[in-house]
Amino acid sequence: MSTGSIARTPICRIKDKELSSLYIKRDDLIPYCFGGNKARKAELFFEEIDKGDYDTVVTYGSSHSNHCRIVANMAAARDMNCILIGPSEVSESTYNSTMMGLFGARLITVPVEEVHDCIEKTLQELKDGGHKAYFIPGGGHGNIGTRAYVQCFDEIIEYEKESGIDFDYIFFASGTGTTHAGLVCGQLMHKTDHKIIGISIARKNPRGRDVVLDSIYDYLDEEKIPYNSQEVERRTIFIDDYTGEGYGTDSAVISETIRKSLILYGIPFDSTYTGKAFSGMLDYINKNNLKDSKILFIHTGGTPLFFDDLNKWRRD
Ligand SMILES: *Cc1c(COP(=O)(O)O)cnc(C)c1O
Repeated sequence: MSTGSIARTPICRIKDKELSSLYIKRDDLIPYCFGGNKARKAELFFEEIDKGDYDTVVTYGSSHSNHCRIVANMAAARDMNCILIGPSEVSESTYNSTMMGLFGARLITVPVEEVHDCIEKTLQELKDGGHKAYFIPGGGHGNIGTRAYVQCFDEIIEYEKESGIDFDYIFFASGTGTTHAGLVCGQLMHKTDHKIIGISIARKNPRGRDVVLDSIYDYLDEEKIPYNSQEVERRTIFIDDYTGEGYGTDSAVISETIRKSLILYGIPFDSTYTGKAFSGMLDYINKNNLKDSKILFIHTGGTPLFFDDLNKWRRD
């Protein structure tokens, strides 16, 4: 894939014994380097990068980062230098980090509290050395990342128009917040009535939700979209009941959901993001009696993490 917008990802109906109307939007199948929401976001960041005469891309993430994998690939395809700064606390080898290496990215790890300074220092050194570097915030954060999920929401609306199916609920894994923010902004622009529910995979309320709200307001302000803040508040639903220990929690319930989803639907989930969110969604549906609602789950990717998990289970 070169530049330009990505093809619309499929929305598939899932046959489930208990849920009468379950659909999954397969952003994990975005046709670039194992896909995922980071591919959707990075595509837009690289549209910006391609407009300038940058020779280096710098970003941030751990050795598990889907974002860093995608950015390293897109940089390598353009013959650009790629520098990935990550926390030494989370630097063990994974499929994602193996690919970052294969793409020739330079990995710098420092203790998490030094990451901010390290980014500043690296950018300054590049500048002093005559390089032109583009910095992509970790996870593809910022208005560009938000815009990627406004576009995803547009795709959902198109699908609804074509199929005649109107979803009641949209669930997904909410992490650093721009996936969530983009969907809510899309909804405010289309003025629809979906319940958009982010299942937090790490952050707690109120901070987790505040970060999403900040991203929403940043985007609406930049795009000069009028809004009513009470409505924005009401539309931003951030559920933090399923975070467990934070990133990478692998409880028995999540493992069981992942195993069952693979066997029954043929769909891989990982334990950090999609498995956690899907499993949280099932519990939420149960507790709130939503079994007959029309449900859309957005599969945000993480296929290499699925394989990391698979090895973990095999060793057990
Ligand atoms: C990063 C990521 C998320 C969370 O997306 P945010 O935009 O950071 O909230 C969800 N799922 C997967 C697979 C991810 O890599």
